[in-house]
Amino acid sequence: MYVEFVADFPNHPNRIGQCRTRKNDYSRVQIAKDYFEVSDEIEREALMLHELGHCILYKGHNNSELSDACPASILNKNVPVAACLGAHWEEYLDELF
Ligand SMILES: [Zn+2]
Repeated sequence: MYVEFVADFPNHPNRIGQCRTRKNDYSRVQIAKDYFEVSDEIEREALMLHELGHCILYKGHNNSELSDACPASILNKNVPVAACLGAHWEEYLDELF
């Protein structure tokens, strides 16, 4: 498995990360360098867990919401914002594993 930083995702300008898998090849997590540089530690960790959730756990997106409108999963199509990560970190880890 590779983890690499990329300048951008040419066909997906708002994307901040992705997991790419190819038959007979290593999985590859790509992270948008600009996002990573300005994000805080919990956001970086969440993004890595999100992409590893795809690449290692083979999970898809879970876009359901909690009662406070935070995503119910770190595998939401939009990685939860820092306030939600702080409020629900343990739930996110439990949901992931
Ligand atoms: Zn995703």
